[in-house]
Amino acid sequence: MEQTLVILKPSAIQRELVGEVISRFEKKGLRLAGMKMMQLDDKILSEHYAHLKNMPFYQRVKDSMMSIPVIVLCLEGVDSAKVVRNLIGKTNGREAAPGTIRGDFSVSAQENIVHASDSAESAKIELKRFFLDEEIFDYQQLVLPNLYDNEKM
Ligand code: ADP
Repeated sequence: MEQTLVILKPSAIQRELVGEVISRFEKKGLRLAGMKMMQLDDKILSEHYAHLKNMPFYQRVKDSMMSIPVIVLCLEGVDSAKVVRNLIGKTNGREAAPGTIRGDFSVSAQENIVHASDSAESAKIELKRFFLDEEIFDYQQLVLPNLYDNEKM
């Protein structure tokens, strides 16, 4: 089944939103396949944010992401990248819809609580960037028959 990467950013940790945010993913029905705390450095962030290299906020975003450790999650489910992006909302917390994680907890374009892969293709690359193979766990999600129709399982 499709897997995607989520990063609970320093803003989530400082604002004491870790439990709340993970709880939203759990309640949606996504399987938690991996989770760890890690200190990011300039090297991994330069790779991760390469698409922002020419933006004026590039260094600021990297500095913020390195300020304290983050928590990375691997979440699994049908169309998980799309499902998670819908749950987190638009990049800028001031524009994100109420009910989404950024819409409910952020008033900033930068300090927006979470990162999530923007497609299944980028998720594959990003999971490899932040997790070793053995840090992703394959166990049976017992509620599966109550989450999806037979065709999707
Ligand atoms: P997303 O995280 O929604 O995929 P991007 O890939 O465009 O969005 O941006 C990566 C991160 O860079 C954002 O999550 C946010 O922390 C930061 N960022 C994006 N746009 C801005 C901005 N205009 N000002 C400050 N920081 C920004």
